[in-house]
Amino acid sequence: MKTKIAVAKGDGIGPEIMDAVLRIFEAAEVQLDYEVVEMGKSYFDAGHSTGMTAKAKETIESLGVLFKGPMETPKGKGVKSINVTARKVWNTYANQRDFRSLNGVNTVFSNAGIQINLTIVRENIEDTYGGIEHMLTNDVAVARRIITRPGSAQVIRYAFEMARRKGYKKIACGHKANIMKLTDGLFLETFYEIAKEYPDLQATDIIVDDLCMKLVSHPEWFQAIVLTNLQGDIVSDLCAGLVGGLGFAPSANIGDNISIFEAVHGTAPDIAGRNIANPTALLLSGISMLRYLGLTANAATIENALLYTLEKGIHTGDFGDKTTKAYNTTEFADCIIANL
Ligand code: NAD
Repeated sequence: MKTKIAVAKGDGIGPEIMDAVLRIFEAAEVQLDYEVVEMGKSYFDAGHSTGMTAKAKETIESLGVLFKGPMETPKGKGVKSINVTARKVWNTYANQRDFRSLNGVNTVFSNAGIQINLTIVRENIEDTYGGIEHMLTNDVAVARRIITRPGSAQVIRYAFEMARRKGYKKIACGHKANIMKLTDGLFLETFYEIAKEYPDLQATDIIVDDLCMKLVSHPEWFQAIVLTNLQGDIVSDLCAGLVGGLGFAPSANIGDNISIFEAVHGTAPDIAGRNIANPTALLLSGISMLRYLGLTANAATIENALLYTLEKGIHTGDFGDKTTKAYNTTEFADCIIANL
């Protein structure tokens, strides 16, 4: 029997890259059924304050996996980000972002022969992202930062398990416990408590500013890194830059009952509707979703076709050799399909 998932195509470049990825899945004969759900900007515009229909919510909750294109949250007060809300409502507490050097995607590191293969696990629900903010006076705004021991423990345990699964030898906790002694201090203390259960992994900690500097100077030193929400968000975009940009940054939001797979990037309004977006980040997210669902053979076939296509120098306009043809989204997907 085929596994069934929910798919939300998203806004901006979302439908273009999602259609490209689903076409690749179909050509690879992935044993997957999907139901398209209604979420995103048009559902905010239609007056659904959560940005999704009740039917969409019900479908996602019954299927347990959502493959999602990027979504735009209308600006202004009173509207909460659909992305942050979805993570919170469904308790997808661990945000895993894998970054690795890909042949054909030239960066200063790949040109210097340095291979990057690292994973950021970011706590996805707590911290300042709870959105508890208020004006104390006209001139003073206050945000509350919440870090809990159980919330820290579940994401840190996930990071250790992930590190083991991937065959990593070491894991680092990025933090600012030297200044934020109680909040980051609690996260760090929990990290070392859980580390005792994983003697096979070398556990260290690093202050987040030092981490940023070392990631830029020696990214090959790192394997798994676990961080609180806001710091993890910033550090993971830094890591996207190390491997060629947002076009190569996949993401998985993992919970016990529901998991969401999506690219790190947003709706790219500046290039939306032109069929020129790079679908690789969404495709890499889809490949990790297939592995999560146990469809490992399909995942390997598609991954090999993608790697081969990139190695051959086939590229969209956002990366690659500027003197050679930039393929549009449809053509790029066609090349991957031809290499399956
Ligand atoms: P963005 O990631 O959409 O774009 C940043 C830059 O990267 C742009 O120049 C864009 O053209 C380029 N880019 C991004 N993805 C690309 C791709 N696949 N191929 C080629 N180029 C690509 O960030 P932004 O402009 O700050 O945000 C736009 C909207 O997206 C906002 O409404 C924001 O809230 C939303 N957003 C959604 C998500 C999500 O759904 N998970 C994440 C981030 C931002």
